[in-house]
Amino acid sequence: MTAKAKYIFVTGGVTSSLGKGIIAASLAKLLQAQGYRVTIQKLDPYINVDPGTLNPYEHGECYVTEDGAETDLDLGHYERFLNVPTSQANNVTTGRIYQSVIQKERRGEFLGKTVQVVPHITDEIKHRVQLLGKSGDYDIIITEIGGTVGDIESLPYIEAVRQLRWDLGEKNGLVIHLTLVPYLSAAGELKTKPTQHSVKTLMESGVQADILVCRTEHDLPKDLRRKLALFCNVREEAVIQSIDASTIYDVPNLMLEEGLDKVVLKKLGLKSSQPDITKWNQFLTRHKNPKSEITIGLIGKYVELQDSYKSILEAFIHAGAANEVKVTIESIHSEYINADNVKLKLGHLDGVLVAPGFGERGIEGKIDAVQYVRENNMPFFGICLGMQMAVIEFARNVLNIKDANSTEMNPNTSNPVIDLMADQKTITDKGGTMRLGSWDCDLKLGSAVRDIYKAESIKERHRHRYEFNGKYKAQMEAAGMVATGLNPETGLVEIVEVPSHPWFIGVQFHPEYKSTVANPHPLFVAFVKAALNFKKKKTSVRMAQN
Ligand code: GLN
Repeated sequence: MTAKAKYIFVTGGVTSSLGKGIIAASLAKLLQAQGYRVTIQKLDPYINVDPGTLNPYEHGECYVTEDGAETDLDLGHYERFLNVPTSQANNVTTGRIYQSVIQKERRGEFLGKTVQVVPHITDEIKHRVQLLGKSGDYDIIITEIGGTVGDIESLPYIEAVRQLRWDLGEKNGLVIHLTLVPYLSAAGELKTKPTQHSVKTLMESGVQADILVCRTEHDLPKDLRRKLALFCNVREEAVIQSIDASTIYDVPNLMLEEGLDKVVLKKLGLKSSQPDITKWNQFLTRHKNPKSEITIGLIGKYVELQDSYKSILEAFIHAGAANEVKVTIESIHSEYINADNVKLKLGHLDGVLVAPGFGERGIEGKIDAVQYVRENNMPFFGICLGMQMAVIEFARNVLNIKDANSTEMNPNTSNPVIDLMADQKTITDKGGTMRLGSWDCDLKLGSAVRDIYKAESIKERHRHRYEFNGKYKAQMEAAGMVATGLNPETGLVEIVEVPSHPWFIGVQFHPEYKSTVANPHPLFVAFVKAALNFKKKKTSVRMAQN
C-alpha cells in the first residue's frame, strides 16, 4: 500500500511577486531529486473560473495543460522544473470553487441547508486540495495559495489550510510562509518587522507558519535569523533566505544550500538524502557558459510585460542551453512595424518569432515582419496567430490575393485564408470554449519538421478558434508553402513550411508549453540552431566583402 500523500502549503506575505511559484517549483525539484513523487497545485483567489478570459496584461500568459485546462502561468514553471505534466486539478480558482458549490446547491445536494463560506466553500477547497493526493500518484502535494495573507479573497483558503492541518494531523502537513525582508539603504539595515506582521496576520487566522522563506537582496545574518525565529515561532533552521538570483534556474541550488528540503522532510517525518540534480546542473553550466550569441526578435503586442510570453522566453533559455548559445530576445511591438521601417527594425536580427495573440491590433505589422524575413531568408518561427499571419502574408504577396485575411480580423473578407473552425461557429461563450489541449499531428515525409522531431506523429497543445482554410491548401502548396503537419482525423493544418527558405515554420499549436529543462523543445532547439547558422553566414559574407 502506498503511504498517504503529505501536504505542503505555501502562503505569501508582505507583498505579491515574491516568487512563490519558483520557490514551490524549486522545493519540488529537490524532493523529486530524492525520489519523491511530487506535484504542485495553485489556488488562485480571483472570481474568474479560469485565467482563460484574462487579458495577459492582467495576469500574464495563460498556460495550457495536456488536458486542455487554461491555467495560471505558475503551472508552466512547475512543468519546466519537474518535467511532469500538470492538469486541470493543479489549478483552482475561487470562481471554480463557487461554481461547483452553486451547481450542487441547484441540484439540491445541500438538503435545505443554508450554504455558507464555512463549511461549504472551505469544504470544496479542501476537496480540491486533496484530489491530487487521493489519486495515489504522488507522495507530496505542494499547494501554493495565490495572493497575499490578509487579502479578503484569501481568507477562505487560509481557513481551509487551518482545517486541513487539523484533519491531516502532525507530520502530514506543513506551512511555508514566503515574506520579504527589505533593506533600507538610508538605515543600512535589513528589516524584520514586515515579516513579523505577516506571520502575525497568518496566526490571527489560526495558522502557524512552520518555515519562513525570506526574500532578500542581501544575505541574512545569523542574529537576524535568530530574531525572526524568536518572534515568528519557528526554529532557526527553518528561517530560509531566498536571495535574488540571476536566473530562476539557480533557485533549486540556493534552496539546497539553505537546507529547505531537509527542514521540510524532517517536519514531514520523511527520509532525506542528497538530491541528484546532476542533469539540472549540466543544463545550468551550458546556460551560463555560452559559446556564441544570437538575437531573436519576438514580435507581439504585449511586449511591455515579461510575463505575457513567459513560456516562449523560457523555451528559448532551454533551447539556448541545448545549443550552448546565449539567446538575447528583443521584444518588438508589432503595432509600430510597417513596410517602411521593417528593415530598420529587423535587419540586425538573427531570427524572428511572431507570437500568438488575439484580435486585430498590430497584425499588419506582423504581416510586414513575415514578408521581410521570408524575402530575406531570415529564420522564421510563427506560433498560433504567428503561423496564421504567415499564411496571410504568403497568400497576399506570393499568390497575389491582396485581400487575403483571417475572419477574426475581417469577418467580411472575400478571401478567408484563415477561418473560424466549423465547430466554433455555434459557440457564444468565451470561457474554456477554444480548441484546447493536446491533439495529434501527423508529420509529412521529407518535411523539415519530421526531421526536427525525429517522429512521424506528435502531440502538441492548442488554444485557438481559427484555422488554415483547407480551400486554399492546393494553391498555397503549388506556390511553395506546404502543409507539413495535419490532424489525422480532421485534416486541420497544424504546420506550414516554406521548403525553399532556410528555416520557415509556422505552427498552429503552442510548442512553448511543452519545453522543459530536461526536454528542451525540438522546434525551439532547431530554430536557435538555424538562427546561429544565419548569423554565421551573415558574418562570413560581411568578412568576404571587406
Ligand atoms: N486568435 C487566433 C485564434 O484564435 C490565434 C490564437 C493564438 O495565437 N493562441 O485562432
